[in-house]
Amino acid sequence: MQAGQLLNLKNLHVGYKSSSGNQKCIAGPINTQMHAGELICLLGPNGSGKSTLIRTIAGLQSPLEGDAELDGVNVKKLKPADLARKLSLVLTDSVRAGNLDVLSLISLGRYPYSGWLGGLNTDDRRIIKWAIESTHTEQFVNRKVNQLSDGECQKVMLARALAQDTPLIILDEPTAHLDLPSRIDLMRLLHQLARDTNKGILLSTHELDLALQVADKIWLLKPDRKLECGTPEDLVLNGTFESAFDKEGILFDKTTGSFNIHPVGEREISVFGEGAAAFWTKRALLRQGYIVKSGGIDSDVVISDLPDGPRWLLRKKGVRTEVESISEMMAYLVIKS
Ligand code: ADP
Ligand code: MG
Repeated sequence: MQAGQLLNLKNLHVGYKSSSGNQKCIAGPINTQMHAGELICLLGPNGSGKSTLIRTIAGLQSPLEGDAELDGVNVKKLKPADLARKLSLVLTDSVRAGNLDVLSLISLGRYPYSGWLGGLNTDDRRIIKWAIESTHTEQFVNRKVNQLSDGECQKVMLARALAQDTPLIILDEPTAHLDLPSRIDLMRLLHQLARDTNKGILLSTHELDLALQVADKIWLLKPDRKLECGTPEDLVLNGTFESAFDKEGILFDKTTGSFNIHPVGEREISVFGEGAAAFWTKRALLRQGYIVKSGGIDSDVVISDLPDGPRWLLRKKGVRTEVESISEMMAYLVIKS
């Protein structure tokens, strides 16, 4: 086994068996590894098998074929208490234990060491304190779990997982119910934790954009049921990312790493300029169905960044005019086209 290897998936096939004994393979064969300190984002459309794979790795369901090895040991052979010292799991719809206070919930992370009724020793308390500090949840510890927002609750669930002090943490769609600032906050925190603690963190998500920014590696479940693995940048450059999310009307732009929701336009327009004003000008033109080309100083739209704000010099059928906002530019282009 390679040093630092946390997880080894060997010819793993995941799925379900019906009562009549028929097998329904959802994903496989999967052959990949995960190492200490890595943040891996598991991506794939709804129903592609992200949760099924996570549940199989976490020992909640058996593989149809092949093996998942944790720290060199087959998950199937680990007793629940041993498994709980190797892997902590945070599920999306984590039970909102109504009347439980946050500190007690986080402290439950110590159960593999203390037992359900076991008292907490100094070490347990030190790790719980560290888990709370690392997730910035100090201000919630005296609240009840049902008095937390979704974002706060996810951080508390992460603190509980940290208190469990396992080399591997797995989260199934931790950002699913969060607003954008909370999603960014949580992803940044997970990224930081992988760096600071050398733990392996595997999370499934629909946040393609954030995953591209924070993941050390991406595991992508594809329609052919195979799992494609690689650094985000390689998957973008070799076209894997694009083809996996290729849907009519949604285009992945390799040069900006963003998804373009607008259909390709029919009218060409050239734009000259740089910086924020040029970026938002191009966005507005794309929305109106233009094919935007970068041009020289004689472009149809020339943006100059003046000290008192940007100006747009427009050229249409040989006539030049200057405007002071994107809405004026759009109005002029529409009337004159
Ligand atoms: P994801 O998490 O990527 O959205 P899931 O792993 O939840 O996908 O589901 C993958 C596929 O497995 C889906 O087609 C789903 O209908 C099917 N599935 C999920 N749970 C079961 C089950 N208990 N029995 C049979 N099929 C299931
Ligand atoms: Mg799922």
